[in-house]
Amino acid sequence: MKLAKLGDGPEIFHTLQGEGLSCGVPAVFIRASRCNLHCIWCDTDHTWNFEKTPWPHEKDALPGYAKHQKSEVTFEIDPTAVAQLILAYQCPRTIITGGEPLLQQAEFLQMIHTLRAHQPEHQFEVETNGTQIPSPDFHQAIDQFNVSPKLTNAAMPESLRLHPQALEFFARSHKSWFKFVVASPADLDEVHALATTYSLAKQRIILMPEGRTTEELDQSAPWLAEVCRDLGYRFSDRLHIRLWGDKRGV
Ligand code: SF4
Repeated sequence: MKLAKLGDGPEIFHTLQGEGLSCGVPAVFIRASRCNLHCIWCDTDHTWNFEKTPWPHEKDALPGYAKHQKSEVTFEIDPTAVAQLILAYQCPRTIITGGEPLLQQAEFLQMIHTLRAHQPEHQFEVETNGTQIPSPDFHQAIDQFNVSPKLTNAAMPESLRLHPQALEFFARSHKSWFKFVVASPADLDEVHALATTYSLAKQRIILMPEGRTTEELDQSAPWLAEVCRDLGYRFSDRLHIRLWGDKRGV
């Protein structure tokens, strides 16, 4: 399987879930390499923003920023070996993130089966952009899907970022929670429209403030918290940003 590389190994680390329903819960994170989208503000662009690809990124404007060499940011590893690495943390929850993990469902399923052979109660969450339909086996194996459909602010055509059949699937699944980063009232209008189109229950929609620093979060969190209170959405802070900024591997 193709994972993101961190140092000399795969990007697997023990931390706290920083967002959403299980915010604050200890978990092992494992980051898949590769994504089918190319959000302009993506904070894990080492999973897809490779040399010779045409996608723009907001970091393009930073002095010295360059697209990634695929071989330098990818770590190929057998799924059973990944299971052993995760088991070593002795933590009962794993969060499979990316990139887009659902591009490698068979490999992650193998990892999950190996891991559960040792820890049958191990819980798995998946962070997904909501464009890929899980296979029946994969859906059954996962305890929680954190689905983050991308809004206009990701700077991609709607036909790429919103896949109606996949969103309908997740809307029907009792394992799905829908997570949106909201930076403006326009973002909020899009969330309302998606909720209406796909009949998403308000209680399963989680809104998070935009920000890569505590100061930025502080600016948008109070406004968004009031929106959630008044409209019945769930609010989530971004704990990992407050604790560790946007540092990788924590
Ligand atoms: S879907 Fe997620 S990983 Fe993929 S480009 Fe967008 S933010 Fe990045």
